[in-house]
Amino acid sequence: MPRRRRSSALSTINRLHHRDKRSGKTRSYEITFIAGDGVGPEVSNAARWCVDAAAEKYGFEVSWDEQQAGEVALRRQGSVLPRRTIDSIARNRVALKGPITTPIGEGFRSVNVQMRKTLGLYANLRPARLFPGVKSRYSDVDLVVVRENTEDVYAGIEFDEGARATSQLIRLIASKSGERIAPDSAITIKPISISASRRIVEFAFRYAKDNRRKRVTAVHKANIMKSTDGLFLKVARQVASRHRGVIFDDMIVDSMCMQLVLKPEMYDVLVCPNLYGDIISDLCSGLVGGLGLAPSANIGDSCAVFEPVHGSAPKHAGKNEVNPTASMLSAAMMLGHIGEARAAKGLERSILKVIREGRVLTYDLKPRNPSTTTDMADAVIRKIRSGR
Ligand code: NAD
Repeated sequence: MPRRRRSSALSTINRLHHRDKRSGKTRSYEITFIAGDGVGPEVSNAARWCVDAAAEKYGFEVSWDEQQAGEVALRRQGSVLPRRTIDSIARNRVALKGPITTPIGEGFRSVNVQMRKTLGLYANLRPARLFPGVKSRYSDVDLVVVRENTEDVYAGIEFDEGARATSQLIRLIASKSGERIAPDSAITIKPISISASRRIVEFAFRYAKDNRRKRVTAVHKANIMKSTDGLFLKVARQVASRHRGVIFDDMIVDSMCMQLVLKPEMYDVLVCPNLYGDIISDLCSGLVGGLGLAPSANIGDSCAVFEPVHGSAPKHAGKNEVNPTASMLSAAMMLGHIGEARAAKGLERSILKVIREGRVLTYDLKPRNPSTTTDMADAVIRKIRSGR
């Protein structure tokens, strides 16, 4: 499919909900800032400085409402997701967030999952675009993953091995379905609803139309999970029938992975249930140069949280060496979302220039003689200020 130049992924939906306290000619915004764990503070502050520079350049004011989540919040406030953090996001309606560590297989449940559920952030938008200057096996990748953010196996409905509730559930399933589950099993429930599926597929089509994208592909495993993924696909087809201007097709998730690796230029907007969306979007980041370059937005009806796709990368924490681009691009998406389109474009343009010039880049983009996180952020800030 021939590629087209289209308006940037920044000109996103849901402008209505920004908190724009206009006073005279000065536009001012209060934004919740959550630095995050591990490399979080390094990349989040880089993004924050870029927003400050863009605000100065494009004539608006930003005040940051600093809040905590994750390990820091647990240590200082006794909760991984304090009420005041949620209240701040709900009040300001927009947040810039760093990654948060989630212990694997034990400890507290994911803070991100809790936050997305509590704030109703049902759409996770993850653009993956190959920028000039980034080394890649591909020459033309411009994808957007639209991931359902509230249900699927991420709903957090889990039954531990050996627990009384698990044995009861195993017995119930045997009595209702005749299927035997080994008594030493743990169980995770996968809810997929008509309402959440319809909402996310509608979001994907609206996004496609607003950003002049031509194709929406629904990703599923409906051949095996006929009830859940089958429902997602059925709803996706119904929604697609109401959006005639955009091509719709669907693909089984394993085949989608192969297709993306072979010919990513064929695809455009991918709409996925939660788990596939998570996996596919990391795959897409790999196509365009890695996690250091992948931004994201979590969008709901009343607020939005912008964060890099990557995690807290603990082995890099405190070394001032990881790529701040994913966070800076997330900040650019955020500026587009609050209605500061010129600043969003200015920030994105500045990031792309620094990458294209190839001089001040972190280790993932320039393994020999790499620059630091702060050097790269400074280079972007200089571009924003000079406008060149
Ligand atoms: P990760 O994304 O933190 O890091 C994996 C690897 O990717 C790193 O070791 C590094 O090589 C590379 N990488 C990541 N970010 C980079 C950057 N900005 N620049 C250059 N290279 C970068 O994944 P992980 O190690 O599996 O997860 C660490 C923790 O982060 C876990 O606790 C996980 O649950 C959490 N996590 C949080 C979020 C979030 O808060 N949104 C997202 C994903 C993972």
